[in-house]
Formats: sequence, structure tokens, C-alpha cells
Amino acid sequence: MASETKNVYVFGAARTDGHAKMKNLLGGKGANLAEMCRLGIAVPPGFTISTEVCTVYTKEGPEAVKKLVQAEVLEGMKFVEQGLGKKFGDSSDPLLLSVRSGSRASMPGMMDTILNLGLNDEAVEGLARKAGNERFAWDSYRRFVQMYGDVVMGLKPVSKEEHDPFEVVIDAVKAQKGVALDTELGTDDLKELVKRFKGLIRARVGREFPTDPWEQLWGAVMAVFESWNNERAKVYRELNDIPESWGTAVNVQSMVFGNLGSRSGTGVAFTRDASTGEDLFNGEFLINAQGEDVVAGIRTPQQITLEGSRRWAALALVDEEERRTKFPSLEEVLPDIYKELLAAETKLEKHYGDMQDIEFTIQEGRLWMLQTRNGKRTGAAMVRIAMEMLRQGIIDEKEALRRVTPERLNELLHPVFDPAAIKKARSIAHGLPASPGAATGQIVFFADEAEEWVRKGKTVILVRQETSPEDLRGMSVAQGILTARGGMTSHAAVVARGMGKCCVAGAGAVRVDYPARTMSVGSETYKEGDWISLDGSTGEVYLGQVPTKEAELTGDFGALMELADKYKRLGVRANADTPADAKAARSFGAKGIGLCRTEHMFFEGDRIKAVREMILADDLAGRRRALAKLLPMQRSDFEGLFREMDGLAVTIRLLDPPLHEFVPHDEANQKVMAHEMNVPVGVIKMRVDDLHEFNPMMGHRGCRLGITYPEITEMQTRAILEAGLNMKAKGIDVRAEIMIPLVGTVREFNAQANVIRQTAAAVFQERGEQLDYLLGTMIETPRAALIADSIGAQAQFFSFGTNDLTQMTMGFSRDDAGKFLPYYLKAGIYEKDPFQSIDQKGVGLLVKMAVEKGRAARSNLKVGVCGEHGGDPASVEFFHRAGLDYVSCSPFRVPIARLAAAQAAIDGGK
Ligand code: ADP
Ligand code: MG
Ligand code: MG
Repeated sequence: MASETKNVYVFGAARTDGHAKMKNLLGGKGANLAEMCRLGIAVPPGFTISTEVCTVYTKEGPEAVKKLVQAEVLEGMKFVEQGLGKKFGDSSDPLLLSVRSGSRASMPGMMDTILNLGLNDEAVEGLARKAGNERFAWDSYRRFVQMYGDVVMGLKPVSKEEHDPFEVVIDAVKAQKGVALDTELGTDDLKELVKRFKGLIRARVGREFPTDPWEQLWGAVMAVFESWNNERAKVYRELNDIPESWGTAVNVQSMVFGNLGSRSGTGVAFTRDASTGEDLFNGEFLINAQGEDVVAGIRTPQQITLEGSRRWAALALVDEEERRTKFPSLEEVLPDIYKELLAAETKLEKHYGDMQDIEFTIQEGRLWMLQTRNGKRTGAAMVRIAMEMLRQGIIDEKEALRRVTPERLNELLHPVFDPAAIKKARSIAHGLPASPGAATGQIVFFADEAEEWVRKGKTVILVRQETSPEDLRGMSVAQGILTARGGMTSHAAVVARGMGKCCVAGAGAVRVDYPARTMSVGSETYKEGDWISLDGSTGEVYLGQVPTKEAELTGDFGALMELADKYKRLGVRANADTPADAKAARSFGAKGIGLCRTEHMFFEGDRIKAVREMILADDLAGRRRALAKLLPMQRSDFEGLFREMDGLAVTIRLLDPPLHEFVPHDEANQKVMAHEMNVPVGVIKMRVDDLHEFNPMMGHRGCRLGITYPEITEMQTRAILEAGLNMKAKGIDVRAEIMIPLVGTVREFNAQANVIRQTAAAVFQERGEQLDYLLGTMIETPRAALIADSIGAQAQFFSFGTNDLTQMTMGFSRDDAGKFLPYYLKAGIYEKDPFQSIDQKGVGLLVKMAVEKGRAARSNLKVGVCGEHGGDPASVEFFHRAGLDYVSCSPFRVPIARLAAAQAAIDGGK
């Protein structure tokens, strides 16, 4: 395959082979570098080795790759050399390169970039002479040896407590010199570093540092391909559903230098605020720096705009005088470059029609663009940016809807700290509001321990000096992340925003002591396990657990939801059992209740006593007496639901769980029950034993209860209809839907339907008034789906109980699947947890079939789904395609379902 096609694509002012749409082949970085060249933006020339070559590497190894692309790489190099008038490997005027990875989907910090490649002991002298700057040449060289030693030669810390070996050497040299910053090291110090680095590599890796530029280049190219399969890349792919097969491209690009003095620098910028979504150009830079210095949090970065700088100063508690002298903005120090950058960011955002995350370098007063991509952002920023871009005419309505990932709405619905509690809470430190949210947890200092603690059921805050890609998994399980170093574009900040995780970054006063497992601020010390709370919107760190309250939704959120309703076809209801839930559901935009689980009402207050009395009763008369006590309570519950849902459907499921769920199983509580019921404890025990089932999920439950104890169905029907009539009398538009659970045969349905109809007739006669209601059933046994036509002839609606349907179709229960399902998911036997996202091929087929059969028997059959799948975006999309009328999910997922339904409608349910 790959050998017949082009494998290397050049980009530069003279010629550009690729463009933005070629992400699959060139990776995101390569495709966008090409696109920027086409836009006339200054980009250092280079070439991209395609992702297909990565596949060759994985399958056949480095030699095969070299054979395949060598000639094309030579040609690409000639292109670069011609563009710059320098030669690679020429030590009198060396052409230096960066070697950068880049896959289709952006994987921030996943693959390591190598800068200044091509330097050796001779070339460094050439570089120094040519630039007239010896310090710069040696700074570049020491960086190269450090990066190459780490990434290609594999000299990394061996344990998590060990610091980066290269940094240890740097710290030692700094200490010797009595300086604090890298920039304070002189040429001789840098020479010393290079020497020590090489010695360290020789000692620990057992190989000499390569001096031949071509050997360096091939080593770096192969390392990029190799890195596709390193641990942290795998973790990132796992967390983000990126297939192994995609591969990464390699970008080989000529260097520009941000470390050439006070008119040089490097930076990162966002065309809008990635945290809040505000339409404000922002970013950070460092003068006389290179590569990852800004994101690595080595020095405190400066802000790009004056406005941003002032805001930063206010948060960092830096006064104007100090800000202006020590941390001035780019707008102030290099106004011409700032203008150029502003023009470029405007052009790029306009061109891509989305918020851009850009990387740039300034070399002696000249701006070079090194990367652009659609920026990662928080859920709140997603909503705001989409709606503002819509209003600004940059995107249309459909595109605005596509721009928001439904799941990310979760972040907006999440609780925030209760302002009253915040007033009383003790603030112990202050950092940058890197990613919003309210997080409370116990301090842990290591990512793997965060995972361990969370596995044990604890909630943790990961506290680090700074984070690195190794910490990804730990970051993803933590409630929040606190770092002592780094700015708004630091690794921790960017990754946390991408995950929608609360993060406070660069809390400068916090000192982290890894070996002691403590963090201290001033004279106070906090240990591993201590509770802290982070406010990701203000950057405040509090001691202890600060209580939270519900978030308030912004205008953009409401507007997005309205837009979703305009495009979606599927109705969205909520699963709600109480008037309070119903009210919440309605406020989130639910158009009705798709499932009210009546048994949830049985546990409240005194009711459980009456329920138990019914269970204990020896005969029908006894059961009726107990049920009569329950009737008024159920009736008033239903009245509340109907009132809240005025004008909207309320689907009420008759009693479903096995009776043993209502009795105590331990002796102590059985004694309490015996006392309450005034019977010997032996009687209780016997009855509890009696109710024991080997497999309750498939036992005496659902309509089987109502069929064996029709008086229960009678009471519930009466409660529903009397409540309905009472509310109707008060002018409320009652739309009751009575739902029979767990039906498997038509006769089961009919048996229950008869009880319901007879009870209804009796109630209507007594009251001298009628109430319209629908009578339908759950479809949750495979048999019900198979005979859906004959059930559809009887029932007025179907509601798929996809949880039970999944259990019975798969043949395993959700509660027991924990023992093997994680393994199955890892091994790829199942792609997704079938209880989270509907198994479209199997269970989904039953759903589709049942819809068709049911509608064939009754054309106006109402069909919905009330399992938790109703709030899963992928499942919602499936239900849209399957032609359902509505989905129903928990109140908090209603907005997610509404957006997912709109996206399904827009893209035709793909
Ligand atoms: P990542 O995928 O982690 O963003 P990059 O390939 O973008 O890695 O490289 C990281 C940084 O290295 C860039 O942001 C830039 O500062 C620097 N860099 C990469 N290529 C060059 C180059 N050709 N000249 C100067 N700096 C570069
Ligand atoms: Mg990086
Ligand atoms: Mg980058």
C-alpha cells in the first residue's frame, strides 16, 4: 500500500503538498502546518512523513521504514535546504530541525518533540559564529542533548520519587553558580551541562551520544513512531476512544529560535477563553525561551494582551507596578509582533470557524507560527463559544449544535460551592482558575496512588508540583487537580479543561514535598489524606470539605437547549418518582415523565410498615386492609406528580421489584419489624425465608406480582385514577399512562389490563366522572419483543426497559457483570458497556423489530424508552434512527438527551 503512494509531503512558502483536510494522512499538526502555509502565514519549512508509514513501522520495524521513505526524505530535505539556503549536516552554518509527532486527533503532550536536531560539538561552534551568540548556540545544544537523551535514548527517571535526571544536573549547576533561573546560566555553564549530560547518558544508557546529524534524524523519526505505542499514548487513546490503527505522522521542520535574546521568545495562545468561552484573545509567552518552556511551568509566563495581563495580575495578587516591570504583556513589550499575532489569530479563527489553540515563536523580532488546532475547552466554554459564534454569523444553527458534545453539558449541571459555605471556609492557598468546577477530596501526591485510592472508594485531589502526561490516568480519576507551578496553558490546565475537570494551577505559595508526602503553605503543612476543596472558577484552595449547591444555568445554555428542541424529533422525558424530581426534570426541559417507579414511594416514612403488613398478611382480607392504608399515600404522591406535570404525560409503572426487597434481611432489623408488627420474630424470619429467590431478577416480580396479587394492581390503579380526577377537578390537565411491567405474553398483559379496566370503571362510576388514560406495557423481556405485534394489538404504548432487556438478552445481570465486564471491555470482546450504551446489534435489533411489529399492529402506538440508556448520547442517536417517539432518562441527563436528539436529527442519525 504505502510504497505505491507518496509518503512524504513538503510544506513551506515555495510549495505545499498537503492541506487541512488531510488529517488522516498527515496528522492534525502536519495538515494544519500545510494549511497555514497556504494561507500565507509564516511557517518554518519542513516535511511530513505520513501516518501510513507509522503502520509500516508497527508491523515491519525501523529498517523497513527507512527503506520505504529514505529517497523521499532526502528530497524533502533538499526542499527545506533550498528554502533556507543552508545544508543539513553542514557544521559551519548548520540547518537545525525539529522532529514532531502528530496524529489525526490532537493528543496534547502525548508524543515528544525534539528540537535543535543536527547539533554536535562542531556544529555548535558554527551556529555560535553564524548567530554571533555563543550562549544561544550552547543553550540550544544542551536542550537538544537533554531532549534526545530522554526521548530517543530513553534516559528517564526510574522511580516516581526520582526527579528528572537532567533537571537534577541543571539544579546542581545552578546551585553551584548560585542562580535560580535557566536564563541566568552563562555559556560556560551550558558547556558544562552538555558535558555532564553526555556523561550521564554514557553512564546510564551505555551508549555514546550520536554526532552524525543523519543518524540523529533517523533515530528521532523512529522514536516518534515508537512513541505511538508508549504507555501514556495508549492511556490517552483509551480515555479518548482513539483507535490504535490510526498511527502518527512525523513532522520534520526547520527550527526557528525563541532563545536568541530579548527580541525572541515563544508562546501559546487561544483565540477565545478556553475556560469560560469569552471571546477574548489570550495566551502566554516567555522571552528568550524555547519549546515547551511556557507549558512546562519552568518560569512564570507573561500574558499576551494587556487586558489579559491585568486580569492575571489581579488573580495572582501582583500589583500594577510589579506587573509592568516584571511581567509585562507582549502587547507592551513587542507591540509590532503583537499586532501581527493578532492578525494571524483573527485570520486563523475565521478560516477554521472555530476557537484556535496556536503555538508561535518569535525569532529576533520576526513571528513564526508553529501550530494551530481547534482548541480544547470546558463544557461551559463549548456552549458559550458555539452560541456566540452563531450570533456572530461564523457558524449556522446546525453547526452550533454539533459543536457541543452532549456529555460535556454535565459540567454545567454540576454543583458549585455554596456561597454561604464559601464565606465561612478557610482559604489556604490561591492559584490560577485553570478549569472551573467545585472539587472536594483527600490530598494525594502521585497519580498511581490517586487511582488506587479511588478504587478503594475514596475521593481525591491530585496535588503536584506540575503534571506531565504520565499523570493522565490519575488526573482522570481525581475530583480535581492542584499544581504549584505552571500557568493557564500548563499541561495540568490544558488537560483538565479537556477532561472537564476542576483545576487550580500555579498556586505559587504551595510547596510540594514528594518524599514526605506533604504540601505546605507558609508555616502550615498538610498531609496526604487531608481534605481540601478547590474552586476552579476562582483559583481558591480551601481547607476541608466545602458544601456545594446546584449550578445556575446561563442564557447561552438555555438558548442552546431551545435550538436543540427546534431540530430534534425525539421527545425527551424524565424518570422521576417524586414531585421534587418532576419539578427538576421540568426545569431541565423534560416533556413528561417516562417512568415513575411506584415502589420508590413505598420506602418513605410510615409506608414501609403498611407494605410489610401487606407482605405478612396471610389472606386476601389482610392484604386489602394493609393496601387500604397505602392507598391515600400513593394517591397524594400521584396528585403531586400530576400537578407538576400539568399538560404533560406521566407514565406510572405498577409495582415491579420482588417483595423480598421490602423486608429486612438481618436479624436486628427483623426484631424491630417483629416488634412493630407485634408478631414473633420467628414469623418474620419464616416469611423472609419464604420470599428468598435464587435469581430474583428472574423471579416473582413485575406483572407476575400483580397477577398473583391483583389487589395490588387494583389499589395502584385506584390511586392513580382518583389522583387524576382530583387534579382534573382543580383544572389540571392530567395525562396518565398506566404501565404494566415485565410482560412476556399477551395473556399476562390482558390479565392485568382487565384488572385495571375494571378498577377504572368502578372508580369512574363512584365519582360520576371519567378520566382519559393510556394503558401500555414495558417491553423488557426478549419474548415481549418477539411477539410485539400481538402485544401491540392490545397495548396503547410500549416503553422499552432497556436495562432488563439487556440483562435478559445478554444473559447476565448488571449487578454480577462487574466480575468479567471490565475484562471484556479491555479485551475488546465488547466495545462498550452494554448497560451504559445500548448494544445496537443485539438488543437494538430487538428494539427495532418490536417497534416495527408493534406499529404494524397499531399505527398510532406510542413508543419510548425508559432505561438509563435514554440519557446516553450514542443510544439516543440509535433510538432516533429506530423511530422511537421519545426517550426518558434521569432529570440531570435531560439536557444531554435533548442535544443528542438534535444532533441525531441534524445528521440523520448517521
Ligand atoms: P506538542 O504536540 O506537544 O504540542 P510540538 O510538536 O508542537 O509538540 O512541539 C512543542 C513545542 O516545540 C512547540 O510548541 C514549539 O514551541 C516548539 N517547536 C516545535 N517545532 C519547532 C520549530 N520548528 N522551531 C521552533 N520551535 C519548535
Ligand atoms: Mg509536547
Ligand atoms: Mg504543539
